[in-house]
Amino acid sequence: MQFDPHPSRQRPSFDWLKIVRSNLPLILFLLLAMGGMFSVYFFYSPTTAVSPQEIIAEADLEGGLWAPIYKDVAGEPATQRIAQSPGPIRIGIISGHRGFDSGAVCADGLTEAKVNAGIAEQVTAVLRQEGITVDLLDEFDPRIDNYAATGLLSIHADSCDDINALATGYKIVASTNTPSFLLSDCISQAYAVTGLHYHENSITHDMTNYHAFREVALGTQAAIIETGFMRLDRELLTTNTAPVVQGIVDGLHCFLDTVSVRQAEAGGDGDGNG
Ligand SMILES: [Zn+2]
Repeated sequence: MQFDPHPSRQRPSFDWLKIVRSNLPLILFLLLAMGGMFSVYFFYSPTTAVSPQEIIAEADLEGGLWAPIYKDVAGEPATQRIAQSPGPIRIGIISGHRGFDSGAVCADGLTEAKVNAGIAEQVTAVLRQEGITVDLLDEFDPRIDNYAATGLLSIHADSCDDINALATGYKIVASTNTPSFLLSDCISQAYAVTGLHYHENSITHDMTNYHAFREVALGTQAAIIETGFMRLDRELLTTNTAPVVQGIVDGLHCFLDTVSVRQAEAGGDGDGNG
């Protein structure tokens, strides 16, 4: 700063020079920065590029700002693919003991095989009427070996012995080879329409280690149901079978619907995994 010996003499025309001098570093910095920005601007402005005005003018001609969007389009749908592709809906129904033995037998000669067949045949008829492909299978049907379907249900009934007053109710066991809890849960819930309670205490090794669980193809959900006890639940299993058939059919609907939704979801990401 310069010392002014005459403060009373105002010389306002020189004041800006004083400001410039006192702020010289700042002004130099601003000039340099401006020069830098201009050089960057001109360096990165290609002379051949379309100007923003031209882009806007063209967009107006086309009726607005637009740009093409490119999207992957799936190829031809495959009609036959290997293992992991979900096949068409197909249900297997094993008529318990059919073609092998009689199963449990009542004192009056009523056999489990006959009870099972009555229910299995009605279930099969209802599903086929709805257009669902159903295989009605014997207990040891050769088709069960490596059987590929959406689901397989084996229909059995429980002992006709006079055990006690608690020998009533149904139970269902899912395969764990191919996790099949969707199948068993759906049927178990729908089967409540029969009014029977779930009789879990009498689940046997024959059920959990059911032969068909090991024989069907991997990916085929499988379950075995004991529809009721042939003594105390006899009426439901022989003469009043409508609720039993409805419970099983409704359960299979629940199962097939859920599978379809899951397949659609899995198919949506395009990898085709079921
Ligand atoms: Zn049986």
